Amino acid sequence: MLSASLIVKSKGDNVICSNILRALSATQRSLAVFAVITTILIIWICMWLFYKVMYPRPPKSMMPKEGDVTTPRTCNFCGHSLAEYRGVLETPPHSDAMLATDEVVADTADTGTTKNQALFFCNYEHQADFHAGKTYKAHS
Ligand SMILES: [Zn+2]
Repeated sequence: MLSASLIVKSKGDNVICSNILRALSATQRSLAVFAVITTILIIWICMWLFYKVMYPRPPKSMMPKEGDVTTPRTCNFCGHSLAEYRGVLETPPHSDAMLATDEVVADTADTGTTKNQALFFCNYEHQADFHAGKTYKAHS
């Protein structure tokens, strides 16, 4: 690139010129490396900003407070997993009635937990649907 514009006259000049060219090409290479690193940094910052806007932090009210149980529980109606404090925990008045439902029997068989397990739901809607005897349908 630069060699075309340089006019070489003698052998001594040739050596100096080649040294200059070498230094220039080294500078160009380091500039290219700098450009690549800068581009990567710019892309990284852009992506960080993008994710910051697209996926903001959940509000403080949704974060677990002191005393909240954060262990994941499986919804007895839809089967989705949710932290216990975010759902509805239903402690049964007596365990015999609870064991009559097939879902709970299957759940206790899978997890091998105690028979007096409380029912858990994502929300009150799922709780109501569960007790109404409905079956879960996705996208309904
Ligand atoms: Zn659910």
